[in-house]
Amino acid sequence: MKKEFQIVVLAKQVPDTKNVGKDAMNADGTINRAALPAIFNPDDMKALEMALMCRDIIKKENVDVKVTVITMGPPRANEIIREALYRGADDGFVVSDKRFAGSDTLATSYALSMAIKKLGHYDIVFTGRQAIDGDTAQVGPQTAEKLGVPQITYADEIIAASTDAIRLKRVLQHGIEVVETKLPSLVTVHGNAKDCRSRHAHLVIKKKNTEIPMLTADDLNPDFERLGLKGSPTKVKNIENVVLAKKESIAISSDDEGIKGLVEDLTAAHIF
Ligand SMILES: Cc1cc2nc3c(=O)[nH]c(=O)nc-3n(C[C@H](O)[C@H](O)[C@H](O)COP(=O)(O)OP(=O)(O)OC[C@H]3O[C@@H](n4cnc5c(N)ncnc54)[C@H](O)[C@@H]3O)c2cc1C
Repeated sequence: MKKEFQIVVLAKQVPDTKNVGKDAMNADGTINRAALPAIFNPDDMKALEMALMCRDIIKKENVDVKVTVITMGPPRANEIIREALYRGADDGFVVSDKRFAGSDTLATSYALSMAIKKLGHYDIVFTGRQAIDGDTAQVGPQTAEKLGVPQITYADEIIAASTDAIRLKRVLQHGIEVVETKLPSLVTVHGNAKDCRSRHAHLVIKKKNTEIPMLTADDLNPDFERLGLKGSPTKVKNIENVVLAKKESIAISSDDEGIKGLVEDLTAAHIF
């Protein structure tokens, strides 16, 4: 019997770095997370939409398809699982444990890969390209490496999907690329991808009291040496506030003479 087609979305709850107030930074330069509202990481919302679109395509093959959202974070990260359920995800859980504290991207991707393996079976994992707080864009690719599956990064649009393969459009600096991979595989979704569908009123009513399961480190049967600070070789040596200050400015007149001078200056500086 064919197994249920399992789509996984990795989503992170992040501080809203667009609404930074005066209390946003601690005196030592670290983020004061308590002073910032927590939101669904924007790229992950796009990953959720791509997962839901993928489910719609695969369903046409008369296959049972499920979208499961996983987040690792404090217990309140269940807010983003609920948000995903309101928008159409079928299931989700939080992975939370004090033993994950201090995780760098290596330890985070290890814990997430163990959480995915806990499902027993998966076909596609969608992640955001990048989280707006850590900003490394490493967790998706590192998770693929730990799962031992191929990865497509910077995905912008699904071109085709079946139970065996997925074809996607990738956005690159100098153009676009269409690539296909066999499943299982992992896809990181670019911020230019389609916006996520809105909440469905009937799902809000149905799911508002749904209990969101929480898994601890013990549930993942991990190698405890690879979790949290112990499993994190990245050491932050120093954090500095960098304020980019304009040192000099040049006024350019908006006539032909001004533009000609600007082009000459940029050419002389080898910018053109
Ligand atoms: C030494 C060190 C100590 C740190 N200690 C802490 C700490 O104590 N507390 C803390 O909050 N951060 C800590 N961090 C930051 C932490 O490492 C990163 O936030 C985390 O590893 C994810 O990396 P990122 O934010 O760059 O994600 P990216 O690599 O930019 O994320 C890419 C994608 O991966 C997925 N993803 C990433 N993280 C998660 C997650 N948690 N759950 C589900 N999906 C996810 C999302 O889909 C996301 O879009 C520490 C970092 C270092 C280097």
